[in-house]
Amino acid sequence: MSNREIKLERNIPVFDDADVIIVGGGPAGTAAAISAARSGQKTILLEQSGQLGGMGTLGNVSVFMGVGNVTGIYREFISEFLPEALPSSHHESIWPQYSPFELRHYLNGKLEKEGVEVYYHVSFVSSIMEDNRVVGVVANTREGLRAFGGRVVIDCTGDARVAQDSGVPTRAGRDDDGLTQPMTLMFMMQDTGKPVRQKLPEDCYKYDSIPDLPQGRHLYWGGMGDGTLLVNMTRVKGNGAKIKDINYAEKESLRQALSVANYLQRTNHPNHILSHVPGQVGVRETNQIEGRYTLTEDDLTSGRRFEDVVAQTNYEIDIHNPTGGTNTDERKLDGYDIPYRCMLPQNVEGLIVAGRSISATHVAMSSMRVQATCYALGQAAGVAAAIAIESNVPVSDISTTALHERLAGQGVVFVNKVLAQ
Ligand SMILES: Cc1cc2nc3c(=O)[nH]c(=O)nc-3n(C[C@H](O)[C@H](O)[C@H](O)COP(=O)(O)OP(=O)(O)OC[C@H]3O[C@@H](n4cnc5c(N)ncnc54)[C@H](O)[C@@H]3O)c2cc1C
Repeated sequence: MSNREIKLERNIPVFDDADVIIVGGGPAGTAAAISAARSGQKTILLEQSGQLGGMGTLGNVSVFMGVGNVTGIYREFISEFLPEALPSSHHESIWPQYSPFELRHYLNGKLEKEGVEVYYHVSFVSSIMEDNRVVGVVANTREGLRAFGGRVVIDCTGDARVAQDSGVPTRAGRDDDGLTQPMTLMFMMQDTGKPVRQKLPEDCYKYDSIPDLPQGRHLYWGGMGDGTLLVNMTRVKGNGAKIKDINYAEKESLRQALSVANYLQRTNHPNHILSHVPGQVGVRETNQIEGRYTLTEDDLTSGRRFEDVVAQTNYEIDIHNPTGGTNTDERKLDGYDIPYRCMLPQNVEGLIVAGRSISATHVAMSSMRVQATCYALGQAAGVAAAIAIESNVPVSDISTTALHERLAGQGVVFVNKVLAQ
């Protein structure tokens, strides 16, 4: 990057105002929008793509990892969208595979029913600040730059984009070298019932055995029962929030996807065609905010509980090798809490950060990042924003008791809850 800077100063038309503005419509953003709207707040969600669901649709992730806590809005989604997967207790794990196209359609309808104003193809550009308080955002829309005013903004971009622009310090990756988990382009293959044409483009890789593969293993799911194979076998080193890294990853991950598909056709899936490649590479890890509490590996392994719990999970530590090497560090966990303070940035008010970019170390985020946990964090963020607005207090000063009561009213059940002193 050059050291040159330019100054941009201009008047921006205000397109809309709301009580709560949510930036990013992935798992965290969709749940945050529903819970804020259900709490009676006028809620706007800004999404840079044409669809909701984040990595779960855009990145074709399309499997919910088990977290040992199917509760709240996530439970409601499962009961409506995948009723056959709904466990009887809130504290059982499920690992259902789903259609990303159907989830995308379900979420469109769900947010509309909940009264959330979703603006698609609207990409965050800049925070609007009054002293240290976020009071809205400027975004790039199909009509040019537009402003959106809000009393509380929830950053669900996954990259902490709003937080960074508001002056919140962030960190990325491993403590020693800053390397983040690698990116993966997940794709689908479909059983056609007969041998398919095999084509390996010239600049792709001819993998002959498992050790040759980018992850050194087979990793795919066939749980739909209709001949769909969901493949998670590409791996590209880099930080998806860096311009050059993502540029490289988009090209390299597609090259690997075509190569892996060809390998599978030549080995154990001769009847499967490549049926879906999503429009963007999947990004696991980018920026974490410096929050009022930072979740650590020790919190996970010791099963720590917090008075201000907002989400619970027992999903494992799951670190795909950040160097791009073939191994994955997987360690089982018994279960732990994530406190509200992980979503509260240091020094900035009017802003909550939900989803994978909360305040957590590299190891801790490798477990909390899965979709169900991001839905839970988003739901809590939406409720917290509503309570702050109703009580006319900063988001950092809301009552934990009120937060827990409101979450319980929205169907959230916690286990091993620590009682406030
Ligand atoms: C390859 C891969 C495999 C995974 N496997 C699984 C799995 O099997 N099961 C599981 O449960 N989880 C899995 N995960 C993790 C999970 O998908 C993500 O961690 C989770 O989706 C994060 O949710 P989020 O809401 O924080 O962010 P995201 O899902 O990243 O959503 C962020 C949203 O914000 C939008 N956005 C970003 N920037 C802007 C902007 N400037 N303006 C407006 N909108 C913006 C994006 O378009 C997106 O819709 C996987 C992730 C990857 C990448």
